[in-house]
Parts: sequence; structure tokens; C-alpha cells
Amino acid sequence: MLDKVVIANRGEIALRVLRACHALGIRTVAVHSTVDRNLKHVGMADESVCIGPAPAAESYLNIPAIIAAAEVTDATGIHPGYGFLSENADFAERVEKSGFVFIGPTADVIRLMGDKVEAIRAMKAAGVPCVPGSGGPLGDDPDENARIATDIGLPVIIKAAGGGGGRGMRVVRELAQLQSSIGTTKAEAKAAFSNDQVYMEKFLENPRHIEIQVLADGQGNAIHLGERDCSMQRRHQKVVEEAPAPGLTDEQRAQIGAVCVEACLRIGYRGAGTFEFLYQDGRFYFIEMNTRIQVEHPVTELVTGIDLVRQQLLIASGEKLSIRQEDVVLRGHAIECRINAEDPDTFMPSPGQIKRFHPAGGPGVRWDSHIYEGYRIPPNYDSMIGKLIVHGPDRAQAIARMRIALAELVIEGIKTNVPLQQRIMADPGFQEGGRNIHYLEKRIAERKDKGIGLG
Ligand code: ADP
Repeated sequence: MLDKVVIANRGEIALRVLRACHALGIRTVAVHSTVDRNLKHVGMADESVCIGPAPAAESYLNIPAIIAAAEVTDATGIHPGYGFLSENADFAERVEKSGFVFIGPTADVIRLMGDKVEAIRAMKAAGVPCVPGSGGPLGDDPDENARIATDIGLPVIIKAAGGGGGRGMRVVRELAQLQSSIGTTKAEAKAAFSNDQVYMEKFLENPRHIEIQVLADGQGNAIHLGERDCSMQRRHQKVVEEAPAPGLTDEQRAQIGAVCVEACLRIGYRGAGTFEFLYQDGRFYFIEMNTRIQVEHPVTELVTGIDLVRQQLLIASGEKLSIRQEDVVLRGHAIECRINAEDPDTFMPSPGQIKRFHPAGGPGVRWDSHIYEGYRIPPNYDSMIGKLIVHGPDRAQAIARMRIALAELVIEGIKTNVPLQQRIMADPGFQEGGRNIHYLEKRIAERKDKGIGLG
């Protein structure tokens, strides 16, 4: 068993990993930037090391500093959380070459899945259904690109091969715009991901985002833990997630789940992972795989009763998966609302000090967050400050619990998106379920047109 783990992250996920480590008797090392000394998990960790100044590039993305922290503390493993270095193949490689266990898949698999063009190729070969697309990176020949777009059928979406976080994507509805859109997306991709390769996919007009959670031990065993519906998005970023996906049948789940399990075995996957799909007219289309724990993992934990971070730690310790597919039983319904420090109308980040704080509680309520009264949210990082997650016997009861929990949650001193989440929970379309990825933005735009803020 791993005996000491460096948590190479911050905020709520660092705390989540710390809790899972301590529950297994694993000691923890928090690494943090100079503005993050007061993070909750830093105070709770067995040891802590300051790895650099506030800018992430000099701290949470500073590979030599993180490895040095593991060396000086005699740690055995490194957990990357999500974001930051979690899907950086070079980091995984450096960690393992330095003699530590990287809590995640092998560097080769991360590298393969990190290049979306290569990932789609590998998935197609493994029998995973994909979005009709260019099947490879786009070249500079305008005629050839126009031919590809015509073959696929407009509208198409130009996407960065190295993209992530909902950035580096552009929809093209007319051939006249194609070449300039490719140029702009390439330039953006180069600036954001240091990789100017882009590819083309059919733009699906009204899909839902449904993803499959998997666990694999890298020793020939893999299972799926059902799906999450993450269709409530703004700017390609998830706002609300739930499990199971409204209306998905057991047969559909079993079928797409089995496809993902088979793909895991084929690529030699190890650890927790997520296959992301667009789902339209009863069909799944693979878009990418996330080779890490995801923000929205708690909804799967609540409906399956399986602690995903604990499983990551057990797998990284070399244990075989002890859960069989038939042991995975979905119970009830779970919903997660991402709580962001941002203006609910303009979506501008709202860092600052939390003056008053009361968490939500009660049956079926889980609050994953690092914030506390007096805590100062630094302006340097992502605006997500917590996740409010509820579990109920069915979807209607889960929504009811979420509405009470949102009303109970008090965060003062900064602006939060709680009013937006309350509107979503009260929205008849959301309550009905099964809305597509454009629904939330459309509703936000409608209210804006009428001059009504979301607060
Ligand atoms: P990222 O890695 O940046 O999250 P994804 O490939 O996962 O990028 O896509 C993020 C979101 O963008 C999806 O959830 C969906 O809302 C939208 N999207 C991506 N590809 C398509 C497509 N082919 N058609 C329609 N929407 C898409």
C-alpha cells in the first residue's frame, strides 16, 4: 500500500484526496503556492511544502518543485487531482522515472488520449462509436478542407487536438467561413495548448452530454459505473451534473458501458477514467476521454456507493479491482451543482474574503468544499469554490433536496452562482429532464433579452 502521498493540487479536490488517503491510513503531503497557505487541506495534511508563488505556472504546474517536494518528504505516490498536471503525460513520466507512483494511468495512455485526433483513432479501432469527422488533423489546403466539410455535412465544428476546458472550438455553418475559422482556431490552439493541430467534426445540433465512468486495474480487469448527464453547460463548461441520465435505459447503459470496458482493456487503461459522449437521437458519439478523476465524480459515488478516489489509491497500490461488474448497482438519483465565486448575471469571477458561511446539510446532502468563514479566495485560480451534491430515492426528490440545500447554503462577502443554480432547479425544462447542451445558454439569453438578471 502507498504510505505517503503528495497531493499535487489545491482547493476542494485536494481536500477530497486527503480524506480518501487518511481513510486508508495513507499519510499526506500538501504542496501549495504562497497564497494558498490557508487552504483547509494544508492545515490537515501530515506535512506541507510551499512550492512557489501564486501563478500556477510557477507552483501547481512546476514539475521539478513538485517532484522535489516528494523527495524531501519521502513520499511514495503523487495524486494529480484534476486540471493542472493531471493529464500531462510528461509529468506522469517524470514522476515514475523519479521513483514515485503516479496515481493515474501510464504516461503512454495519457499521451494517447491527450491528443484528441489520436484518441478518436484509437477509440474507433476499439469499436467505440465516434462523431463523423475528418479522422485526422486538417491541412492547409482550402479545397481539401472544403471537401472534408462537405462530406461530413455542414454545420461542422473545428476543434483543437490538444484542447481542453471547453476552449479551442469553433462552429462553422457556411463554407465561406471555413478557412478563416480553421486559421483562428489554429492560432488559438497554438497560444493555449502549444499545439496548432485542429480537426473537424460534425456539429451535432441538439445533443446531450453523457459520459461513462470506468475503473481499471491495469491487470486485466475493468468495470463501468454507469453514466453522468452533464448537459447543463455554459460556454462548453459543466454547471450541473447528474446520475443516472434521465431516460437512459438499462440496456443502453449496459451496451455503451461494455464498449468502454472493452476499450479500456484494449488500450491497457489503469485507474479511474471517463469516456465522454454526445448523445443524440438515441445514439452515442465519443468525443474524448478524461484520464483522471473528474469534478463531477461524486454523483457516481452517491448512486453506486463506490468511493472512486479510494479505488484510485488501491489501484495505484497495485491491488486488483475487487468490484465486479455485477456488484455495481445504481440506487436513486444524484445531482451536483458547481458553486462558483462569480457574478450570477455577468459570470465575472468574484474573489475575496468570505464573511459569513453556513454549509448545507441534512439527509442525502454532501458538500465538497475547502471554504470556511474568513477564508480569502485568491484571484489566481479557477472560480469553483465547492460542489453541492444531493442524493435522493428518485430524481424529483433529489431536486427537492437540492432546492432546500441551495436555500440553506450561506456564502457572504463574495458573489456566487447560487442564484443561477436555484433558477436551474426551479426550471420546468430541467425538472422534466433530458435537455440538451444548448438549453442553459438559451434560457440565460432569453432572460437577458427580457432584461431580467438571474439573481
Ligand atoms: P473539452 O476537452 O474542451 O472539454 P470536448 O471535446 O469534451 O472538449 O467538448 C466540450 C463540449 O463542447 C461538449 O460537451 C459539447 O458541449 C461541445 N461539443 C464538442 N464537440 C461537439 C460536436 N461535435 N457537436 C456539438 N457540440 C460539441
